[in-house]
Amino acid sequence: MIDTHCHLDLYPNPGRVIDEADKRGTFVIAVTTTPKAFLGNVRLAEGRRRIRVAVGLHPELVAERYREIDDVQKYMARTKYVGEIGIDASPACKTSAGLQADVFHTLLLSAEQLGGKVLSIHSRAAAGAVLDHIEKCVRKSSPILHWFSGSRKELDRAIELGCWFSVGPAMLRSRKGRELTLAIPRHRLLTETDGPFGTKDDRPLMPWDAGLALPVIAEGWDCSVEEAAQQVRLTFREMVELHGSPM
Ligand code: MN
Repeated sequence: MIDTHCHLDLYPNPGRVIDEADKRGTFVIAVTTTPKAFLGNVRLAEGRRRIRVAVGLHPELVAERYREIDDVQKYMARTKYVGEIGIDASPACKTSAGLQADVFHTLLLSAEQLGGKVLSIHSRAAAGAVLDHIEKCVRKSSPILHWFSGSRKELDRAIELGCWFSVGPAMLRSRKGRELTLAIPRHRLLTETDGPFGTKDDRPLMPWDAGLALPVIAEGWDCSVEEAAQQVRLTFREMVELHGSPM
């Protein structure tokens, strides 16, 4: 099982979640919302073979924390994974959308300068702007659009631009989310939870719950759940290997 977008440090008891994920063999990309959290997550993940820590600056926090961009750039040299980054133009964040776009653009360029990174990208109410920046800046990085909620046309554009997509049980709850998911080419689809923000029945999704997305995907692909799981693993491995050294 692979959870390519999980906020491990934001569970009430991260240590216990990490132990359980380890026991279940779940591979996790621990995204972070601030560069300081990156350091904390690196400590949390110490000695765990299946956890990778991404450095990020969440778009919802950019208005108050954009000065931390230097630290994000500094820590990027220490990891192959960058996230959560992106743009959020929903009503609560709209006023900082311009600043968010500047930060996003700068971070995309930094990732390029370092030879390309695996990027986990937020694009709520801003799919078009996010894709503009990807089109302009990304040559070597692998952009994964997390919980994509743009239009079908924007999805097609993202596919055209070579993006990957991480889809979780929360996204699959809506009809639109399911339709978008099944329009994603098989070799571009990854699984995620966005836990603990992603929920199911009012409880936070756990990293291993990324697997709950598989039956829906398998049904759409007309294959077995195990075949769908295998395809997701293959897609992830091939993507990560574009950036040298295995996962
Ligand atoms: Mn998130």
